[in-house]
Amino acid sequence: MTEPFVIVGGDAAGMSAASKAKREAPDRDVIVFEKGEWVSYAACGMPYYIKGEVDDLEDLVAVTPEEFREERDVDLRTGHEVVAIDPEAKTVTVETDGERFEQPYGDLLIATGARAIEPPFDGFDLEGVFTLRSMNEADAIEDYVDDRGPETAAIVGGGYVGVEMAEALTERGIDVSIFEMLPQTLQPFGEETARVVEDHLREQGVDLHLETAVQGFDGDEVVETVALEDSSVAADLVVVGVGVAPNVSLAAEAGIELGPTDAIATDEYGRTNYDDVYAAGDCAEATNVVTGEPDHVPLALTANRAGRAIGSTVTGDPTPTGPTAGTAIVKAFELGAARTGVIDPERAREAGFDPVSVTIEAPTRPHYYPGATELTVTLVADRESERVLGASIVGHEGTKRIDTIATALSSELTVPELQELDLAYAPPFSPVWDPVLTAAKVLNGKLEG
Ligand SMILES: Cc1cc2nc3c(=O)[nH]c(=O)nc-3n(C[C@H](O)[C@H](O)[C@H](O)COP(=O)(O)OP(=O)(O)OC[C@H]3O[C@@H](n4cnc5c(N)ncnc54)[C@H](O)[C@@H]3O)c2cc1C
Repeated sequence: MTEPFVIVGGDAAGMSAASKAKREAPDRDVIVFEKGEWVSYAACGMPYYIKGEVDDLEDLVAVTPEEFREERDVDLRTGHEVVAIDPEAKTVTVETDGERFEQPYGDLLIATGARAIEPPFDGFDLEGVFTLRSMNEADAIEDYVDDRGPETAAIVGGGYVGVEMAEALTERGIDVSIFEMLPQTLQPFGEETARVVEDHLREQGVDLHLETAVQGFDGDEVVETVALEDSSVAADLVVVGVGVAPNVSLAAEAGIELGPTDAIATDEYGRTNYDDVYAAGDCAEATNVVTGEPDHVPLALTANRAGRAIGSTVTGDPTPTGPTAGTAIVKAFELGAARTGVIDPERAREAGFDPVSVTIEAPTRPHYYPGATELTVTLVADRESERVLGASIVGHEGTKRIDTIATALSSELTVPELQELDLAYAPPFSPVWDPVLTAAKVLNGKLEG
């Protein structure tokens, strides 16, 4: 008898793998251990729940535990934490209600995700100080806003979660400050895009403190202020969003190797250094499509796709998990900001490229058609090969054009090849020369010049 396919972690990567495996091999036992109560939830939607655009937290659940059990025949066990893996004996140790048991596996998927980084700030344990990673935290923030009616909020970290939360809390009538240690917000999106977003955040009333290191939080049981180096700022609510770290201790303690990014090292099928142990999603590395190097991209599509591929692989159809371009998009009030590939010149040079870039502004529609706005496109290429390396785009509409460039990265297009793409045009949607083509044209000129 084939031992079951056991999955640790019941969100994007884990449940995608479970569903795919059951679809491909209905007779194979699939057991999912999830330590919490929520499964298959869209963490990405949590800021919009807090903002009030999504009515119920349950709306963020794609497939309920009952549907997994009854309709998909997945043996889903919530409230079950895997506390150890023995890859030689091919068993996991599971803890539930204070009891422990061993579960043998035929194949194992580690899909333990990532956790919010918690710097050692004084006062982290004060009431009103939150991170936002789990559904329970989203629920707690929403309750706090409802019950306490905070007037001021501090967001520590100007990454995409910080920017989304700035919008959400402003919409709830709260005065928001963002504190960012670096000279810019949205670091992976590049400086040009960040500047446009920052101007917009200020226009929307967000008090932006760049190059500002938070020291901690003060208050009498409940947070009242954020302590900076020489001053303090009032805050009735604090959200700390300074990034995530992959949950790898379970794997590392079992001798499963980590890669250069400190996430779990995997091959192109998501396999670890043990043949029958896989890892996917926010806890695992993926190969960067531009550099060919291992990368850690804690984003939803990477997790869903890798999980699905591993579900196929373990049921007899070996399927690569796919490379990542780090393609991401974020809404900041009225703006969209998007990025893909390698934008940072230092990172490009480390990967052996000689980066050349341009930043252009182009209208999203012809001048005569109502509603045109400016789109800022930064395009980066390698000088010698002319290969497109990455891009970022920011504007009021049309930032999903980043997908054209993500496609170019996967096909290893050069700038002249990107410039030759036949992109759609009609006045309500685009000028004749789509802004992506304009950026390619300008960058081509720079490469030739
Ligand atoms: C606020 C927010 C907004 C986001 N917005 C976006 C977005 O717009 N676009 C985007 O692409 N991505 C976004 N993401 C990221 C996206 O949610 C993640 O990439 C995705 O959830 C990763 O899925 P995963 O299955 O790898 O891990 P997770 O979602 O972290 O799930 C891992 C699961 O494993 C469980 N687990 C961990 N250890 C154990 C154990 N030992 N035993 C049993 N269970 C365990 C955890 O309880 C958890 O449920 C956002 C994330 C957050 C927090």
